[in-house]
Amino acid sequence: MHKVQPIDTNLLAHNHNLTLEIQRRVDQLSAINTVAAVVSQSLDLNVTLQTALDAVLSVIDVEASGISLIDEQTNELVMRAQRGWKNDFVTTPMRIPMGHGMSGYVIAANEVIVTSDVSKDPRLIVPAVGEENIQAMAMAPMHARGKVIGILSVLSYEPYVFDEQEIAVLRAIADQVGLALDNARLYEATRSQQSRLHTVLQSTADAIISTDAQGTVNLINQAAERLFDLRSNQVIGQPLFTIALPIELRDGLAEAFAADMPGGFDVLLSSGRFLSAVISPVLVAFDGTPQQNGWVIVLQDISHIKEAERARLQFIQTAAHDLRNPLGVTLSALTMLQRSWKEPTATDREVFSIAMRGVNRMQDLIDDLLHLEKLESGVDFALIPFDIGELLQNAVQDFGPTLEQRNQQFLLQIAPLLPMVTGDARWLSRALANLLSNAHKYTPDGGLITLYAYADDESLTVAVQDNGAGIPPDAQARLFERFYRARHTENQVKGTGLGLAIVKSVMEKHHGRIEVQSAPGEGSLFKMILPLQPLDV
Ligand code: ADP
Repeated sequence: MHKVQPIDTNLLAHNHNLTLEIQRRVDQLSAINTVAAVVSQSLDLNVTLQTALDAVLSVIDVEASGISLIDEQTNELVMRAQRGWKNDFVTTPMRIPMGHGMSGYVIAANEVIVTSDVSKDPRLIVPAVGEENIQAMAMAPMHARGKVIGILSVLSYEPYVFDEQEIAVLRAIADQVGLALDNARLYEATRSQQSRLHTVLQSTADAIISTDAQGTVNLINQAAERLFDLRSNQVIGQPLFTIALPIELRDGLAEAFAADMPGGFDVLLSSGRFLSAVISPVLVAFDGTPQQNGWVIVLQDISHIKEAERARLQFIQTAAHDLRNPLGVTLSALTMLQRSWKEPTATDREVFSIAMRGVNRMQDLIDDLLHLEKLESGVDFALIPFDIGELLQNAVQDFGPTLEQRNQQFLLQIAPLLPMVTGDARWLSRALANLLSNAHKYTPDGGLITLYAYADDESLTVAVQDNGAGIPPDAQARLFERFYRARHTENQVKGTGLGLAIVKSVMEKHHGRIEVQSAPGEGSLFKMILPLQPLDV
C-alpha cells in the first residue's frame, strides 16, 4: 500500500507564485507586443499613443499614464495624451519649461527615473500638476533618431514601489512610441510632399501622362484630360496605346518609343493644334543605382508659337520683298550713272564704290536673313539620301577660282569612300559655302585653306581649316549668334554676321553639330558633324 504523501504547502505556494510571475511576464510581453503591432500597422498617431497609455497601465498597477513631447521651438515639454488623470491636461496642453520637475531630470539623464514617494523631494512636482496629488511616478525618455523627443510617464495617487520589470516594460514601450512618432513624422513629411507634387502636376498648363515600365498609364493630369477629352479613371491602368489620343500623336509616340532612347517631337494634329511632346524616362533609385521605372510624357500646346513663327516669316518675306525693289532700282540707277560718266574723278569713283558696297551689303543681308528664316521655320527643307561626294566636288569647283584670285592654296583631304548622307543637299551646300567663304575672307593672300571630309560608323564630318586671323576665345562662344561679328575682323572684312548662324541652324535641322577650334593668329578649324543613323524629321 502506498502511503499518501502529505501535501507540501510550501511547494504549492511556490508554484502558485511562479505561475503568477510567469503570467505577469506574459502580460508584460503582450503589452509591449500590442504597442509594437499598433506602431507597425497604424499611421494614426492618436491610436498609437492611446494604445501605449493603455498598455503601460495594463501591466503597471497604477492609476494614470501620460505622454509629453518636447517642443523645440518654445523649449517646453507639452502634454500630448493622458489616461486616468484627475484633470484634463491635453485639451489645453500642459506646458512645462524644459529642465523643470522630474521630467527635467529624465531628459537631462536620458534614463528612466522613478520615485515611490514624491513628498520626499518636492522639486519633482511642477506647480501645474500640484492639484493632482501624485504620490509616486516613473518616467521613461522616448527616442527618435538617437534624440530624446519626449517622455512616457506613469503615476500613482498612492505611494508605489516600481520593480525592475515594470521599469523595463516602461522603457520598451517608450521606445516603441518614439518609433511611432518618427514614422508619423516621416509619413506626414512624405504626404505633404506628395500633395505638393500633386498640386503642381494638376495645376501646370502642360499636359502630362506617365506610364510604368510596361507602358500602362499611371497618371494623367487635368491639362491632359482637358486637351484630349479624357477622364483619368477611364485611362489609368490602360496601356498607353489603347487610350483615345489623337492618331497623329499616337503615331509620333509609337515612332519615338520604337527608338532606343525616345526624345521629343512636334506634331500637327488634324484639329490644327501643334503639340510639342517630350518623353523622359522615370528613374527610381534601387540600392543607390538609378533604374528606369516608366516614362513621363509632357505635351505642350505650341500652336501660338507656330502661328507667331509663321507670322514672323511672312513679315520678313514681305519686308525683304519690299526692300529688294528699291534696292534693285538703286542698283540700276548706279549702273546707268557709271555708264554715262565721261571722265569720273577719283572722288567720284570712291563715292560710287561706297554706294555700290552699301547696296551689295544690303542685298546679302536680305538674302541671309531670308535663308535663316526659311530654314528655321522648316519651309523648303527636306531630308533625302544624297551623294556627299558630288556636293564636295561642286563646292571645290565653285570656290577654286575665288581662292585663286588671292593666291590662296586649296588643299583637299577627302576620304575616297564616303557613305550616302540623308539630309538636305541644298542647305548643306549653303552651309559649306559659308564656311569656305569665311576661310577665304579671314585668311590673308597666299594663305592655305583645307577641306576635309571623313566618316566613321556614326557620323560624317566635313571640315574647313584655314591659317588666317584666328578667333579669340571670348568671341568663339558667340560666333553662332545672329548678327555677331568678332571685333577684330568687323571693320576690315565685309559680312552680315549671319553666315555661321545659318551653318548652326542647318546642323541642328540635321541633328548634327558644328564645332570650332581656333586661336588668334593660328587659323581656324570649323567642323560640321552629321549623324549617319536614320533621322526622324
Ligand atoms: P560674317 O558675315 O561676319 O562673316 P559669320 O556668321 O559667317 O558672319 O561669322 C561671324 C564672325 O566670326 C565673323 O564676323 C568673324 O569675326 C568670325 N569668323 C568666322 N569665320 C572665321 C574664320 N575662318 N577666321 C576668323 N574669323 C572668323
